[in-house]
Amino acid sequence: MARYTGAVCKLCRREGKKLFLKGERCYTGKCALERRSYAPGQHGQSRKKPTEYGLQLRAKQQAKRFYGIPEKQFYKYFELAERKQGITGENLLQICESRLDNVVYLLGWANSRAEARQLVNHGHFKVNGHKVDIPSYLVKAGDSVAIASGSKDSEKIKSTVEACSARPVPQWLDRNNDDLSAKIVALPTREQIECPVEEHLIVELYSK
Ligand code: SF4
Repeated sequence: MARYTGAVCKLCRREGKKLFLKGERCYTGKCALERRSYAPGQHGQSRKKPTEYGLQLRAKQQAKRFYGIPEKQFYKYFELAERKQGITGENLLQICESRLDNVVYLLGWANSRAEARQLVNHGHFKVNGHKVDIPSYLVKAGDSVAIASGSKDSEKIKSTVEACSARPVPQWLDRNNDDLSAKIVALPTREQIECPVEEHLIVELYSK
């Protein structure tokens, strides 16, 4: 499936919840969902009771859109989550959360997950001292992530880091503001993951 390139606020309006796809704007009164809290399109304001399948489908779409993951890759994560010990739904979100683009966003080194994906693609980050330009790279507990030395002087990176510095960093990440590096303390628990979905619905959908 090709990556969605349309207006991202429509995705939030379609899901009826904030997916935080536009960086700082999402926290202001300019948020499209706050101004028009109904689905886009001609029939957006007509309410229908969702079916069980509809609820499951929406949960999957919300998670995919929240992280910006295409269907094929998301399903691969589900298969991986099923093979891991523990609760499949929580495993699935933990895998999504440990993507390098998500980690870069959570560390406040990008305004949004989409921007983080682009910055990773451009080779601005290192994992355990090696340059990694694959946004879907999965970090592990104990890994270190850092802004590449050649990128620390980039005006774009400097202004983004400064703009996002006030954003709280989750406890499973330990950010060092002095050398723009971070340590993955542990992979996140469900309580530490902000993805606003009921993950058991995704498991039910894929288990049919
Ligand atoms: Fe979603 Fe952010 Fe747009 Fe609001 S501003 S609708 S949270 S992407």
